[in-house]
Amino acid sequence: MLKYIAAALMLSAATPVFAQGSPACDAQETFAIIVHGGTSSGEVRQERLDFIETMLAERRADLADGASALDMVEAAIVAMEDSGLFNAGKAAITNAQGFVETDASIMDGRDLDAGAVASQLRIRNPIRAARLVMENTRHVMMVGDRGEAAVTALGAETVVPEEYFTRAIEKVKEPKEHGTVGAAVLDRCGDLAAGTSTGGYDSKIPGRVGDSPIIGAGVYAANGIMAGSATGHGEYFIRHTAIRSAAARMEYGGQSLTEAVRASIDTMDASGTGRDGRDGRGGIVAVDADGNFAAVHSTVGMIHGMASDEMAPTADMTNDYRGKP
Ligand code: ASP
Repeated sequence: MLKYIAAALMLSAATPVFAQGSPACDAQETFAIIVHGGTSSGEVRQERLDFIETMLAERRADLADGASALDMVEAAIVAMEDSGLFNAGKAAITNAQGFVETDASIMDGRDLDAGAVASQLRIRNPIRAARLVMENTRHVMMVGDRGEAAVTALGAETVVPEEYFTRAIEKVKEPKEHGTVGAAVLDRCGDLAAGTSTGGYDSKIPGRVGDSPIIGAGVYAANGIMAGSATGHGEYFIRHTAIRSAAARMEYGGQSLTEAVRASIDTMDASGTGRDGRDGRGGIVAVDADGNFAAVHSTVGMIHGMASDEMAPTADMTNDYRGKP
């Protein structure tokens, strides 16, 4: 037993090994992380911005040490899910019948591997469940009760919903407050990854699944191109395959990250009001293979933060961020 501990200590002294055991990257100096905490109609709780800045400082240190993009996407989103500050994990908002159903996804830009869960009732960290699907099954998405049983069998931690989900307990009605979370990361290997986690749109019909767990709509990552995460009215992001469309504009159209993300946001915004009276406004945070950022939104605000090898953590709400300084 002691031998194993000693061996593990020697390994950790020589080569940093992160949460999921990925080896450290040091192929390049450049790394970048961008996260969002959802769209906003104009008000932001300062504690959300403070939380993001503190969390990004930790991720920035990990990335400088060579942490993988995939591990950092998971770590950033787990922290936001557990914070009780966002519409994901602990503080996920309830559906029209007053109970929480969560959706999440994660994508690995190295090989387009992806995992997702939808309509989960008892999972503590849906982003971890999404990663379990990606790494331990032949499938991309698991949904509902049977999906939940499968990810629980794979090791996803469960909670007692009535005790854990604070907004369900308090029965808070905050129809204007969203707060979906997401992250997109470039690591020092040059690898890209992204993830998204949410309680979904307020007052959704039980069983409704939004864009957050849909690959290409609410999340996308492809090495050499970009990684991104979305927030907003999910039905539009699904119809427009919003983030994959942005990646395709870069891949086939030669557009810059910001041009491509802006085009996806503008196209949805221009498509008018849907049958439910909601429009296609929303936001996307993204990073490209060179470490450029985009944080583009057509809503009044989008809570987001970023950090890189060159940039100390910064969190803001209304900035429409257009490129690396
Ligand atoms: N996109 C999420 C959904 O439609 C909600 C949000 O981002 O606020 O489920």
